[in-house]
Amino acid sequence: MPGFSTRLLYADRKTMDRVPDVVSPINVATTYRYPDKVEDFVMAKDVDPASLTTDRPLYSRLSHPNSSKCEAVLGDIVGGHAVAYNSGLSAFYAAVTYYNPKTVAIGHGYHGVHGILDILTRNYGIKQVRLDQLDQLSKGDVVHIETPENPYSEVHDIAKYVKKAHEIGAYVIVDATFAPPPLQDPWEFDVDMVMHAATKYFGGHSDLLAGVLVTKDPKVKTQLVNDRVFLGTNIANLESFLLLRSLRTYELRIKRQSSNAEKIVAYLDSHRQDYPALKVLHHSSLQKDEYVAKQMKGGHSPVFAIELENEDQAKNFPSKLKYFQHSTSLGGVESLIEWRCLSDPTARPALLRISVGVEDAEDLIGDLDGALKALK
Ligand SMILES: *Cc1c(COP(=O)(O)O)cnc(C)c1O
Repeated sequence: MPGFSTRLLYADRKTMDRVPDVVSPINVATTYRYPDKVEDFVMAKDVDPASLTTDRPLYSRLSHPNSSKCEAVLGDIVGGHAVAYNSGLSAFYAAVTYYNPKTVAIGHGYHGVHGILDILTRNYGIKQVRLDQLDQLSKGDVVHIETPENPYSEVHDIAKYVKKAHEIGAYVIVDATFAPPPLQDPWEFDVDMVMHAATKYFGGHSDLLAGVLVTKDPKVKTQLVNDRVFLGTNIANLESFLLLRSLRTYELRIKRQSSNAEKIVAYLDSHRQDYPALKVLHHSSLQKDEYVAKQMKGGHSPVFAIELENEDQAKNFPSKLKYFQHSTSLGGVESLIEWRCLSDPTARPALLRISVGVEDAEDLIGDLDGALKALK
């Protein structure tokens, strides 16, 4: 099998290219002409929407050329059959719609995912339990594990939850947004579905929203695509062009971002005596549990978090930095820092989350080092 970056560049070529352009063009069409000859018509009752890829697009809510190409590349690198969505949350909504559980076990994690579950609880009475309450699940229920988990980049033991869930007959979804491949491979632990907010590292430039679900079972993919037609949540035309462009350089970015974060965290950790105001440094590279090394085989998440002494320090800290822009989100080539209270109502008051970009690690370290030393 060709290497990771080669697949990022070629998984969709040859069979899926419609024109000789080296860069697949932006397609803005919502609708595509039927074949000229009547003998080439396929009746709607005989069409599998999952088969409507680049050679036979029909209507862009079903698929369009660049969405199919994105799915080919994402499926290849995540390891399965990929279905793309217009946001990470659309992907999660599609996964719970597919499994239709009565109870969902979930940890802390991304607040938007909790927002969707709260809607389902309000409308349909879906029960939510914690990850340490798997004994309350029944066959067909869902365990949703975000690992590493927002905002602390804490790694959770996938194998432990999969074992318990499968004994009960429940399904395991892993939201691997914080550590996409090749950093970790949830399939090694026999999970049922992998989800990513492609808005983050796959997109990587803070200029597109997208999500993806990946399954090992082609029948599940078909059902997800069928559902997506009616949920109306396919990735949009322009976004799929941008995502495909981004995927070409994805390995370069994720490896650089991951190694930058590891260098920064290691530096800050080994200079703790210089930063009396740095109370806690959260990152999976500092986590001691033995499952961490087993899961994070390709490196640690480019996201880490710090807690300062008090709210006032945390609120003012972003303005002291040159190379970290103060905004929410993560995964882009520019480093970001966020006083978490601005976007997450449950965040501790002195917490800052940092998303490391592709800048030179020495500059990022110098920036943080100076600002932390200046805190009195
Ligand atoms: C951003 C994010 C999401 C949601 O993705 P959107 O594209 O913003 O809808 C889900 N899970 C995690 C871990 C995220 O970081």
